[in-house]
Amino acid sequence: MKKLVTWMGLSLMAVFMLAACGNDENAASAPDGKEKLKVVTSFTIIADMARQIGGDYIDVHNLVPSGTDPHEYEPLPNDIKAATDADVLFYNGLNLEGGDKGWFKKMTDAVHQKDENIFNLTEEVKPRYLAGEEGREEEINPHAFIDPGVGVLMAQKITEVLIDKHPTDSDKIKERGEEYVNRLKELDKEYEERINDIPEENRTLVTSERAFQYMNEHYGLKEAYIWEIDTEENGSPKQIKDLVHFIQEHKVPVLFVESNVDTRPMETVSKETGVPMAEKFIYSDEIGDPGEEIDTYVKYLNYNIDLIHDELSKKR
Ligand SMILES: [Zn+2]
Repeated sequence: MKKLVTWMGLSLMAVFMLAACGNDENAASAPDGKEKLKVVTSFTIIADMARQIGGDYIDVHNLVPSGTDPHEYEPLPNDIKAATDADVLFYNGLNLEGGDKGWFKKMTDAVHQKDENIFNLTEEVKPRYLAGEEGREEEINPHAFIDPGVGVLMAQKITEVLIDKHPTDSDKIKERGEEYVNRLKELDKEYEERINDIPEENRTLVTSERAFQYMNEHYGLKEAYIWEIDTEENGSPKQIKDLVHFIQEHKVPVLFVESNVDTRPMETVSKETGVPMAEKFIYSDEIGDPGEEIDTYVKYLNYNIDLIHDELSKKR
């Protein structure tokens, strides 16, 4: 509740400041002098997709940075300014940004953005559901983008929207978009081949958060996890006990830990079961900042499949 009050205070203040300052900043322009399309994205993976497809024809302002939870976010004054001025806003949907009562919807409402500029990138994705803890309703799992098959749909949607919103350079954007979508389609095939190459009895992916559900179901991996979603308790004694119990009943070759979570709960599981931890982190909710090892969605997908394939295929 405290968070909500802070957010409301901040956003109202920011909206008020905008009203006071007016909105007369000059648009940035591309090297050829044409105006760049102003794009706002909700988190790092969508920001990279938009940059890959839009290139120099767009300016991207990303909201949730690396290292910050996309499930709960408080937009900063410069986020609110960018959202006010944006020609296009892309978000993940499937409740990643909190759904109808979440931070993204509150922000776009507060700045009076038009519905026709706001795009949910997973409208065509069949939602998967989390079972929910006792006393909590069933909820949608937001992490569809971990599956490259879903990445293809998201990239196609971004391409379509940018072509439509940027008529002067639509042919170049179309070319870039098709090339990028084809790259993701190849990765989709690669995921299928390499997961089929893992010995069948080893095809169980254990992670901290239940973030890999779409990918697991798509390519035929079984799954186990400590907690269902980052917004719930992360690593309670009961959650740890349940996973330890699962591991005692099933063959699990290795335990994965995501780059953005506390490693201690999984270390406890490893100690109690004797199952080793993977040598490197797996990526789930984010990519790194430009210049870091995993700074694009394509690198993220390549990295994860290499790690999953190698760790689950190792002779131990
Ligand atoms: Zn997550």
